[in-house]
Amino acid sequence: MENTKITGIHYASRKPVRLELDRGRITAVEELGPVPLAGDGKSEQLPVVAPGLVELQINGYKGIDLNAPGLSVEQVLQFSRNLLATGVCSYYPTLITGDPDKISASVAAIARARQEDAVSAAMIKGIHLEGPFICGEDGPRGAHPKAWVRKPDPSLVDHWQEEAKGDIQILTLAPELPGSIDLIRKCVDMGITVSIGHTSADTDSIRAAVEAGARLSTHLGNGCHGMLPRHPNYIWDQLAETELYASMIGDGYHLPVSVLKVFYQVKQQKAILISDAMTYAGMEPGAYESPAIGKVVLTPEGKLHMAGRPKTLAGSASSLIMGVRHMSRIIGFTKAWDMGSLNPSRLMMGEKPMGLQAGAAADLVLLEPEKSPSKIREVVLEGKRV
Ligand SMILES: [Zn+2]
Repeated sequence: MENTKITGIHYASRKPVRLELDRGRITAVEELGPVPLAGDGKSEQLPVVAPGLVELQINGYKGIDLNAPGLSVEQVLQFSRNLLATGVCSYYPTLITGDPDKISASVAAIARARQEDAVSAAMIKGIHLEGPFICGEDGPRGAHPKAWVRKPDPSLVDHWQEEAKGDIQILTLAPELPGSIDLIRKCVDMGITVSIGHTSADTDSIRAAVEAGARLSTHLGNGCHGMLPRHPNYIWDQLAETELYASMIGDGYHLPVSVLKVFYQVKQQKAILISDAMTYAGMEPGAYESPAIGKVVLTPEGKLHMAGRPKTLAGSASSLIMGVRHMSRIIGFTKAWDMGSLNPSRLMMGEKPMGLQAGAAADLVLLEPEKSPSKIREVVLEGKRV
């Protein structure tokens, strides 16, 4: 692909910059002087340039349910494109606790989509298996079907990883289960990032999980008991582990502002926004009939609740950029954008170049220039405008 240049306002420094892109990567970032005037004497409305969003946890979007039986390659391709339009350039399709054969078929469909489609290959960085080795109790189990919750089984991970052609990159598990710590070690050896979630672990189990190599907390503060002892409890224990990143659902409904604020202040560059969105995200507001949970209502604000019970959430229906918007009002735009882009990249890529850096993938979101930008003008995936 030929060399391309993109001029815009750097999302963090707020200074004009020119990015040179070549063969899908950023090759140079040059700071410019004052923005040149356009012919009519007005300043050109340069877009704000930000790194593409990175979604670590998403189950469905715009009518496509990644967890539905019979997931097809075509659905995954459509899913990638739908998500790209929202500024997400990398994602980890997330499969929850379910029939092991269904999980096998779904990971195989996702792996095939990566092989057959350049857009999906660029966007899907790996599969997130959320379960089935989680706590079976009501509360921590969340909406995961009890019938398929099971004890850690390393041979099952091997089997799924084979079906997935090595694409499984994140495993969420409960560390207190017998065999969990050994499974964490094994996954780390396989290059899988292990996350603590849907758990009722005590302090020692969380410590042991981190020592074995767990590096993330899955939607911290959700998938929990309604009532917890004031201390110790598994939320404090995970906050206290400095090596753990924490993902959080920033839609404005799953966690109160004070909790998001505290989680951010504790985790800082290890704080990650996820949408954890399901099928109804991205759809028109209205009433829907979910095959899994019954009648639900999606409000214009993006809240999904059970019909007739506006206080009972029926999952997340906000996209990642909606979470960034909500979080921007709490901690400011740049930090909120980083929670949805740089921070998850840092967890998954370590020291490799990322963000608006030479050497990083040319995955960019061009936003309308505003104080707190949130409207997408254009998305660039591996150097190509889409
Ligand atoms: Zn969950």
